[in-house]
Amino acid sequence: MADPRETPAMQQYYRFKRAHPGCVLMFRIGDFYEMFDEDAVAVSKAIGLTLTQRTEGMPMCGVPFHQLETYLRRLILAGFRVAVCEQLADASQVKGLVPRGVMRVVTPGTAVDESLLASDAVNTLAAVIFTQGGDDSPASLAIVEVSTGDFKIVDCSAAQLIDELARRGTRELLYADTGTGSGPPPRVRRLLDSLGISGTARPSWQFRLSEASESLREHFAVKSFAGFGLREDEPAVQVAGAIVRYLRETQTLNEEDAKAVENFTAGRATLKHLRPPRREDTTNTCIIDAVSLRSLEIERTIRPVGLGGGKRRGEGAKEIPGDGSLLGIFIGSGCCRTGMGQRLLREYLCRPLRDVEAIKQRQRCVHLLVEERVLAGHVVEWLDKVQDVMRIAGRISMARATPRDLVGIAHSIHAAHEVSRVLEGAAAFASLRGKLAGACERSKHFADAIVKGCVENPPPHLREGGLFKDGVDAELDECRGLQRDAGQWLSEYQAQLMSQYNLPSLKVGYNSVFGYYIELPAAQAKSAPPELVRKQTLKNAERFTTPQLREYEGKVMSAQQRGLDRERAMFNELCAMGAKLLDEIGVIGEEIATLDVLSGFAEKAVKRSWKCPEMVNEQVLRIDNGRHPVLEEALGNEFVPNDVMLGSDEAAPLALITGPNMAGKSTYIRQTALIAILAHTGSFVPADRATVGVVDRVFTRIGADDALHAGQSTFMVEMIETANILNHATPRSLVVLDEVGRGTSTLDGLSLAWAIVEHLASQGPRTLFATHYHELTDLEERLAGKVKNLHVSVREWIGGSSQGDGEEGGEAHSELVFLHRILPGKSDQSYGLHVARLAGIPRSVVSRGREVLASLAVQHTGVGFSIGTQSGATDSTVEARASVEHVNGESNGNASLQSSRKGRLSTTGIAEPVAKGSKRKEQLSLFTEFVPHPAVDALREVKIEALSPMQAFDTLRRLKELASDD
Ligand code: ADP
Ligand code: MG
Repeated sequence: MADPRETPAMQQYYRFKRAHPGCVLMFRIGDFYEMFDEDAVAVSKAIGLTLTQRTEGMPMCGVPFHQLETYLRRLILAGFRVAVCEQLADASQVKGLVPRGVMRVVTPGTAVDESLLASDAVNTLAAVIFTQGGDDSPASLAIVEVSTGDFKIVDCSAAQLIDELARRGTRELLYADTGTGSGPPPRVRRLLDSLGISGTARPSWQFRLSEASESLREHFAVKSFAGFGLREDEPAVQVAGAIVRYLRETQTLNEEDAKAVENFTAGRATLKHLRPPRREDTTNTCIIDAVSLRSLEIERTIRPVGLGGGKRRGEGAKEIPGDGSLLGIFIGSGCCRTGMGQRLLREYLCRPLRDVEAIKQRQRCVHLLVEERVLAGHVVEWLDKVQDVMRIAGRISMARATPRDLVGIAHSIHAAHEVSRVLEGAAAFASLRGKLAGACERSKHFADAIVKGCVENPPPHLREGGLFKDGVDAELDECRGLQRDAGQWLSEYQAQLMSQYNLPSLKVGYNSVFGYYIELPAAQAKSAPPELVRKQTLKNAERFTTPQLREYEGKVMSAQQRGLDRERAMFNELCAMGAKLLDEIGVIGEEIATLDVLSGFAEKAVKRSWKCPEMVNEQVLRIDNGRHPVLEEALGNEFVPNDVMLGSDEAAPLALITGPNMAGKSTYIRQTALIAILAHTGSFVPADRATVGVVDRVFTRIGADDALHAGQSTFMVEMIETANILNHATPRSLVVLDEVGRGTSTLDGLSLAWAIVEHLASQGPRTLFATHYHELTDLEERLAGKVKNLHVSVREWIGGSSQGDGEEGGEAHSELVFLHRILPGKSDQSYGLHVARLAGIPRSVVSRGREVLASLAVQHTGVGFSIGTQSGATDSTVEARASVEHVNGESNGNASLQSSRKGRLSTTGIAEPVAKGSKRKEQLSLFTEFVPHPAVDALREVKIEALSPMQAFDTLRRLKELASDD
């Protein structure tokens, strides 16, 4: 027998398979999309399809054509790339091999179908090129959101690269193939791994300037790139060109295949909705790096209850709308109503503005909607009726629109028009309204045509028709008439046969597989007249047909097919009309999204009594009665508001916050960062009053205590992130540090935290530093005017009577009450023992702890804590290295060394006795040794220089014995 792989159809299959390496090929055969060979095996395993064999030795599996979207979704989620190969002609009309073509390649970064996209999340494709060799080379990025046609160019440093890709929802990254066959180059591999996205290698010539320019010129039909704000010869052109070429190759039918079929009616993707590349300017935005986005839980939460670093308390805790992220409180509560608005809001929150005037413009709009509630009500009402026109426009351009898309876009254009009417006369919205009204005006004829022609509730797809109303097209009406009359004809025919043959149980019916039939119960079938031709045998019945019935069937069927073809043609006409209006629809989408976000801000402001922050160009941050925007949703009035005052004439720019665990330190510093960020988006903020000096960058570092992915937050990570802050914070930045220095030994951690505070105080960014190192509070005095102490007040109850803030209640009955109130000054103790008791640590352990604490306190006051300040210790300064290596022999000592050095921070040695007059022994005992031990004494006596290896081993053995004696 001939090789099953040699048939013409399989030859055709392999041609497409070769043209799309790395893709699963779904090959349309009749009513199924089939997969073969390794594809079939891999897919059946991954998503549980039944594996069959086409012929001996050729594995195959398939999905019914009408379930394509469902399976595509599952395949993409399982990490596959899928090339969808269609039949380009009606198989029954073709002699021999049916022409086929790959109409689209679905990859993680190129999804456009509604079923493949979350409405509130951005899904982008990016291409990267490094402009120099070396790991810290700057990069150029082209980023396309295929579903909406958004096309951006971003130039960034190596350090920003991950942030830029993460915050833009990049799912797939194109890079130039090095041709070594060993996968992506290391710096690309690292990006892919840390973002967890898929990489797509493209031939490196596609990134060459000449080829890339050509593809860009051709697609946008331009001679020069000046209009895009690009020079002719810059790296941006290379990535932009490469990405356009990739999209054309994967998302549009290739010319050769297209030529094979002239009258192919299914519509071809055009990519016309792709807007010209636009360079994004990062100097205009307040930069929030990826670490901060994550740890402040701006767009998603890290843990299910990710609030303030502790568990949510309180009996009557309400449900928090959304997922507990900042974005979630707008989306979950319905403040932001459209998918377009939700995606834009994400962008607003991740990339807030830096320009005071631009922020004020947004504030004016929010203000107006807060004041004019009736107007705001109308806006919301109409916004609800606007669908995701941007993505619908994308699908029209990509020939993937559905009947519901068409009707949806028509209603949306009309609703958008109403919105523009509602906004008439609202000064703050003049420009938005103007653009919106213009675009609606220009696309009205399109919307009108759809509403006039299409039914109110269209079917999800066109396979069975039913999109167009009766009476709008004569040909369609005629075809439908024939089908409709069929029922009448059939019952008449049935009556006629019944009486003619005297068979009262005879029925005439229709079935989608076998067509029209005459049915007789088995008993009567025997006496069927010979004119009835046997067609099918059922369990209790026989089915027949007649020449007359067959003729009629042919007529009806062809009428049905003609009707479907006619509807398809009319649908395509409407889509073509829409394709001419993609720009206008894009404008409608943008303006509606903006309005939706601003209206969302206003709704939130009204609901939660948020106030308009005053934006200034000085380095201040003043908040009266500020609240945590997310916790406030859960706790309502139970949430204790707090003030912030940083960097004004009266207040130092850096605040140190101390207080017991669970007191509210983390909550306080995070809420401050969130309020500052909200202020830069143009939103009102959860406070009675706020004055916010413009921030250029927000930095956060959440220490090991609040380790967010348990076990993952290593000291190394902590130090890398801190180094980043020390190296990049400017006097205009906002820095939030939570328990930094916890990831290492106490002495190490304290020394670093101390040095970090000194460094930041000299740099001058507004800083909030929550710490359990009480020793740091000394810095207020040493760096007068630059550092300020705050503490979270608690009240201690002893047998029913309360003692004031900070007083020591030695009684075992005492209980802590968290007031969550931030007050000036330092807290005297860490209250760790109280918390330990609350947590159920045995009483004996707690009281032993008290004893130790008391002995420590004695030593503490006896010795004093001797760390010189940076300025006062010039002669005795040693590199931080000394202390780190001395105390901590682990390898991560080096990490702290490097980061400390980069930041050029130095402190006087902490492990070494430096402050004149203090004794080494006492210094050490403060932190490490409060109980004398013979092993330690013996260790002190050891003279390492004089030991032979054998003696050293023996000494070690003795020491271990001593140590375990106890
Ligand atoms: P810390 O960082 O000091 O250990 P957290 O900030 O993690 O404390 O707060 C612990 C818990 O206390 C939070 O999860 C929250 O439930 C509650 N809390 C914190 N601040 C407030 C506040 N201002 N009002 C009400 N409850 C608060
Ligand atoms: Mg905390």
